[in-house]
Amino acid sequence: MKFVNLTPHQITVIAGAITHVINPDGRVARVKTSVIEEQSLNGLPVRSIETGQVEGLPAPENDTVYIVSGMVLAAIPLTIRPHIAGRRDVVAPGELVRDDAGRPIGCKGFTSKPGGVRVPEDLCKSCGQERHVSGDAGYCGPCLGE
Ligand SMILES: [Zn+2]
Repeated sequence: MKFVNLTPHQITVIAGAITHVINPDGRVARVKTSVIEEQSLNGLPVRSIETGQVEGLPAPENDTVYIVSGMVLAAIPLTIRPHIAGRRDVVAPGELVRDDAGRPIGCKGFTSKPGGVRVPEDLCKSCGQERHVSGDAGYCGPCLGE
């Protein structure tokens, strides 16, 4: 199983004695935001933001979990339709670990959507859906014309 870091930053996970550094992939997942209105409070600007769809999140891949920002994770729907779950192959950096001066030096692990992470396996090579048929060359029934 591999992690793919879709943030622009190096991620350092500090889990007990283990420190694990995950470099950015180069692709970045973002939430599209637009400024609805701006106002001023005591001369300081306040922007009203509307968040839209997640952009730059690749399709699920076998044995792959994507790391995104907490904002992107929050914008991913838990369910797409009542019977279709949203993406469960995505995590965000977890609780921060700080040094003695209070500077963040890493995170303790990851945060997932409620229900936990599901690592994709057995995805169809053609359509990317989970295969309904096993024992073939990696394609689902519909893609094989069944
Ligand atoms: Zn297919």
